Amino acid sequence: MSEIAGPAAAALASLSPDDVLFLQALPKAELHAHLNGSIPIKTLLELAQQHSPTQSSEVADTLQKLKSGAVLDEIDDFFSLMPAIYALTSTPEAVTTATRAVLQSFLNPTGDGTGSPQCAYLELRTTPRATAHMTQERYLTAVLDEVEFYPATQAALIVSVDRRMSDLDVEECVSLAIEMKNRGRRVVGVDVCGDPRKGDMQSFTQHLLRVKGAGLGLTVHIAECTENTTEDSLALLSCRPDRLGHTTFLSDELKALIRLIPCVEICLSSNILGKLVASLDTHHIHYYLKNNHPIVICTDDALPFRTSCLGEYSLLLAQPPLGLGLSRGDVTRIARMGMDAAFSRPCD
Ligand SMILES: [Zn+2]
Repeated sequence: MSEIAGPAAAALASLSPDDVLFLQALPKAELHAHLNGSIPIKTLLELAQQHSPTQSSEVADTLQKLKSGAVLDEIDDFFSLMPAIYALTSTPEAVTTATRAVLQSFLNPTGDGTGSPQCAYLELRTTPRATAHMTQERYLTAVLDEVEFYPATQAALIVSVDRRMSDLDVEECVSLAIEMKNRGRRVVGVDVCGDPRKGDMQSFTQHLLRVKGAGLGLTVHIAECTENTTEDSLALLSCRPDRLGHTTFLSDELKALIRLIPCVEICLSSNILGKLVASLDTHHIHYYLKNNHPIVICTDDALPFRTSCLGEYSLLLAQPPLGLGLSRGDVTRIARMGMDAAFSRPCD
């Protein structure tokens, strides 16, 4: 696991050793983690070394930013990191290396002496990417081969479609996810992700409606930034998603509509470091806690946000202003909600 920094690290550092042991032992589900945003920095540097003859200044610049902790002042600062990471994971071999490292970082014992992994169950997500070296199917196969190395009670895959995709690409991507599931591969859901300011969600709905018909779970990044319109959110909600990612700027009218959505994925460090939420104090998690709406605590992109499952849970338990000051009982209840919101039920 990479070193953590920022608000999660400050919250963790404020906890008593006993509280840390309590959080480490708590079975946690990580349900919102993007593969390419979760690659340990050590692995990314190794991939860069193998890649070095053609390493562009953009790749070198991004690696430097990630090593020293990327400062994200606006949403473009986050998305500008991705092309360099994609350049380093553009072959099936690199995808295999990256996926293996991500799975190990979440699911293998963390080496903290407790023998506990970061999380008990992981639903990793990624957008199938065709490059000069592989097709979308080859990309997905490389990822699934690694995911399926772990038992189904520990790891599964969500196939993401990107808001920037053309209609045809979305259709193909959803078809690929369904086909993989029907072939017995461990695809459990579909996600909508990518730059929240891009794409016409109305045109996505016809494809997303096929997801649920195929027996897959559906989760969507929704109302992530102020530019997202009510129409955009309504189009996504019309597909009856099983989970929602972020929900940062949902209006009260829309909040009323999501009462029936089984779970909201909350990424505290991501929201704060991405400057989409000013502070923990004003974070929308308070709304869900007050209304007893199920949530799951997730890392989103542990690499740029330099966090971990333990770090995110520390933000729940630490006393204000470093954390929310929740009781151990409440934190246990939240962790249980996360496990219950998995697309493939880990306890079955
Ligand atoms: Zn996300």
